Amino acid sequence: MHSHVLSATLTTNTSESADVLRHDGSIIFGDLIGKLDLLRVECPKCGRRGQYKLPLLVAQYGRNEKLFTFIDEIAADCPRKERPSDPCAVQCPDLPKVL
Ligand SMILES: [Zn+2]
Repeated sequence: MHSHVLSATLTTNTSESADVLRHDGSIIFGDLIGKLDLLRVECPKCGRRGQYKLPLLVAQYGRNEKLFTFIDEIAADCPRKERPSDPCAVQCPDLPKVL
């Protein structure tokens, strides 16, 4: 009887530094590559919705950029941004599914 061999070949990451440099636990665009093609964003408070092609976002921001940077820019565009007591709630509804 053969001893069973575990083949741990699930790693698709070719760039080590992207994975090792974990900032502070924030999600980075690199985390979404291969999981999402479209990144949807929506704000339940102002009813805005949008979707962005992930490859374009990665090209624009870089795979090590935090997703938060992008969301911040989206939120900056929100009509509610000026209300500190009731701020914009823009979010990415797909994130819980892929993380
Ligand atoms: Zn909003």
